[in-house]
Amino acid sequence: MVNSSAAGILLRFAALGLGAAVRGEAAPRVAQLHYRYAAMNSGKSTMVLQYRHTYAACGRTGLLLTRLDRAGAGIVSSRIGLAADAIEFEADTDLVHRVLSQSGARVDHVIVDEAQFLSPEQVDQLALLVDEHDIDVFTFGLLSDFRGEQFPGSARLVVLADVVEALQVYPMCWCGQPARMNARVVGGVMVRDGDTVVVGNTDEDAEVGYVVLCRRHHRAGEPYALNPLGVWEAASA
Ligand SMILES: [Zn+2]
Repeated sequence: MVNSSAAGILLRFAALGLGAAVRGEAAPRVAQLHYRYAAMNSGKSTMVLQYRHTYAACGRTGLLLTRLDRAGAGIVSSRIGLAADAIEFEADTDLVHRVLSQSGARVDHVIVDEAQFLSPEQVDQLALLVDEHDIDVFTFGLLSDFRGEQFPGSARLVVLADVVEALQVYPMCWCGQPARMNARVVGGVMVRDGDTVVVGNTDEDAEVGYVVLCRRHHRAGEPYALNPLGVWEAASA
């Protein structure tokens, strides 16, 4: 049986849309909060830099924010060699104040890399910039930490964002399966305890390293393939 009230609402939406189309009017554009996530080493920062470039090329004025990029403060860098200057946000940065106090042309969009380091309060501030100030916000980050638990900021983004998408570039575990999990490796051993934020790198010689693993090998605590001698070793070593 058709739910008549729901059908009526749908018809009214259709009529509204048709009316706008007949009059040749575009529906008013509404700013949105976007969240795109993936495991490490999946090209997030490369996409951030592409967004930055594309929007700037359209004449739009944006701010690029990041925190704790591997290349240092105030920079977004990608593993394929691209980089751009950025604003380093801190744990206590009021993002509403920071964005609205920017001198020069009105900021119409904000791009945030390393969005997993946003606090839930800062995610709320970004949502307020969208809703009350008509500023598009594009955030990119990791969904889960090395323990496989959501970063607090990422969890808040999943709740609040208008668009939540997994980046369609999956890095691979050493076994060849898609890698959805981030693992922290210290001295060649996968660890499951420690501070949520320890900046490291996916380079093999990093003191605190990160590898991306499939669920199975994250669960098993096997960051590398076993060589014939029964010793862990990086697949590419
Ligand atoms: Zn695996």
